[in-house]
Amino acid sequence: MENLLALTLANDVPAQREGEGPSFRWRWLERGVLELTPFEEGERSLLLSSGIHGNETAPVEIVDLLLRALYRGEISLRCRVLVVLGNPPALAQNKRYLESDLNRMFGGRWAQFPQGEETARAQRLEQAVSAFFAAAGPDRWHLDLHTAIRASYHVRFGVLPQRDRPWDDDFLGWLGDAGLEALVFHQAPGGTFTHFTCEKHGALACTLELGKALPFGHNDLARFAPTHAALRALLGGTACERSPEPPVRYRVVQQITRRSEDFRLHMAAHTLNFTPFRQGVLLAEDGEERYEVQKTTEYVLFPNPAVAFGLRAGLMLEKIA
Ligand code: ZN
Repeated sequence: MENLLALTLANDVPAQREGEGPSFRWRWLERGVLELTPFEEGERSLLLSSGIHGNETAPVEIVDLLLRALYRGEISLRCRVLVVLGNPPALAQNKRYLESDLNRMFGGRWAQFPQGEETARAQRLEQAVSAFFAAAGPDRWHLDLHTAIRASYHVRFGVLPQRDRPWDDDFLGWLGDAGLEALVFHQAPGGTFTHFTCEKHGALACTLELGKALPFGHNDLARFAPTHAALRALLGGTACERSPEPPVRYRVVQQITRRSEDFRLHMAAHTLNFTPFRQGVLLAEDGEERYEVQKTTEYVLFPNPAVAFGLRAGLMLEKIA
């Protein structure tokens, strides 16, 4: 099952659906979903997802390398793991999604989208993840690996879902050690995979944005070295190299939503993530509605005027001192 990626892309069903690796039992659950249970049971249950957006291939290649290392015995597994390759048909076509964005559908929101392969996938992933966490102890992590559409002032960063309880220092520390230069804290619920696992299953969850999206085979995996090394250490239960600088922290202060055909985003097409804007600047218009910078300085994240009506065309952030 070390060839999960090839199997998933080809949409093949394995002849053998469960077995043993050097340090774990494995179970293939469905296309792109593999559960690993260590012989030496640790406390942590880790959901490791990638390919939720089908054109974001570098993290999928990293997960592929990690699985190969586990099956070769180079990593001795110390935590329960559910590996999820999120959107296999989109991965096979190198497209972000086929019909609708999978990462807006979680928490039952799939019911509000036109029904298709992606809404069915979101529903099945919710079931698989719920079964995985139902058998978990309190130590629950979810790392959802992505790459961003556009270039960024912070090359690697994490986006964390809204959470009522405080975040765990070990978790935030690990994210820094994994090479994240910034952490963005959501203040409101959303349809992302990480919001679902945080809210429904109490997981410490983060969407990791690890650089720019490129097709399979075109990724320079050396650029992902700190994240790759930190994931190896996490799976093997070993310490990883500490990052010299803690990540810069931001919180979301407003969301720009495209509601109609009249929507205009007043930013250059090449605007980098984390570009600062001064108070009073007009960011976007949608008929009567105007979005202006409220705080002294706000930083833009994920500006995208081409989203479907009702979806996020950008987030505005402020730095947390
Ligand atoms: Zn993504």
